[in-house]
Amino acid sequence: MLLVFIKPRPFLTLFNFRPLLPVLLVFLLGTALLPQKKEVCLTFDDFPYVQMGRYPVSHIRESITRLIDVLKKYDARPIAFINEIQLYKEENLIDPRRVELIKLWLDAGFDMGNHGFRHKDLSSHSPDEFKEDVLLGEKIFAPMIEGKQKYFRFPQLEVGNTLEVKRDIEKFLEENDYIILPITISAAEYKFAIAYSKAYFSKNEKYKKKISDDYIEYLSKFIDLVEKQTEYLFKRRIKHFMLLHMNELNVDHMERLLRLFKKKKYTFISAGEAMTDSIFTIKNTYAGRDGLGFIDQIASIRRLMGESLFDDKRINLPEYVLELSDNDFYDFPYEGE
Ligand SMILES: [Zn+2]
Repeated sequence: MLLVFIKPRPFLTLFNFRPLLPVLLVFLLGTALLPQKKEVCLTFDDFPYVQMGRYPVSHIRESITRLIDVLKKYDARPIAFINEIQLYKEENLIDPRRVELIKLWLDAGFDMGNHGFRHKDLSSHSPDEFKEDVLLGEKIFAPMIEGKQKYFRFPQLEVGNTLEVKRDIEKFLEENDYIILPITISAAEYKFAIAYSKAYFSKNEKYKKKISDDYIEYLSKFIDLVEKQTEYLFKRRIKHFMLLHMNELNVDHMERLLRLFKKKKYTFISAGEAMTDSIFTIKNTYAGRDGLGFIDQIASIRRLMGESLFDDKRINLPEYVLELSDNDFYDFPYEGE
C-alpha cells in the first residue's frame, strides 16, 4: 500500500506574504481612489427659443429638430425649461405651431420643466408676483408631461435676496410638486451666444466660425476649472448640470460640445439621474441678488469667492466677444470674408 504523505503547508508568514503587499496595496488604494464616473445632464433654458420673435416659427422648428437629432445621436438626455409666454402670438392668443414645439421635444423622450411664464426673477419681483408667474408658467406644458416629475429653474438663477424669501419659495415649489434643478456648470455661454447671433444676422461667416471656435475652447477650459472646484469643495466628483440656452450658437455647434464632453470621458444623464447625487441635499444657506450657480453658492457660503479657484476672471473671455455681447448696436463692427 502506497502511503502518500502530504506535508502540511506552513502558515503564511509575513516573510512570504511580503511580495504580495504591493499588489494588495494597489488593489486597496485603487478601490478607494476608483474615479467616480464623469456625468453631466444638459439643461436648456428659455425654450422654445431665445429672442423667439426674431425668427419665423418654421426656422425655430427646423433648429429644434436639428438640436434633437444631434442630442439623440450622442444619447444625451437633456431637459428644457420653458417660458410659456413665448407660445403666445399676442395676448390670449396661443400659436398652435409653437405648442407643437413642446411635443417635438417631448416626443424625443426629453424632459421639460418650468422657467416661469414671463421669466420673472426674484430680485426684481415680489414673492407673490414670482409665485403667480410659476403657476401661470405650467398651464400648457404640465398637462403634456402628466405623470412625470415637474422641475423648476430659477430665472436668472436668482433664488431670493434673503434666506426667508428663499425658504418661502422653496416651500411653495415643493407644495406644487416641483424639484428645483441646480446648475453646476454655469459658463458665460450667453455672451458667446449674443455675439454669435449678431454675426448670424449680419451673415458674417468668418466671425461665426471664430466665435464658435473660441466658444468651444472656452467651454473646455471652463469644464476643467469646474472639475478642480468640485474636487476642492467636495473632495470628489459630482454629477453635473450644465446651463445652456435654446439659441443659434448651440443649435449650430452642439455636436462639437457633445464631442468635447466625450473627449473628457463624460456620459450624459437625465435630470432625475443627476439629482440622485447626495451633494444636492447639503445645507445651502446662500441667498442674495447674484444669480450664482451651485458651486459658487457653496463657495460663497464658505467665503471662498475671489480666491484663485473661484475667481471669475480666471478664464478670460475674448475682448471682441465682450464687446459684441455688451454693446447694443445694429451694424456688425467686424469685417467679413
Ligand atoms: Zn432664462
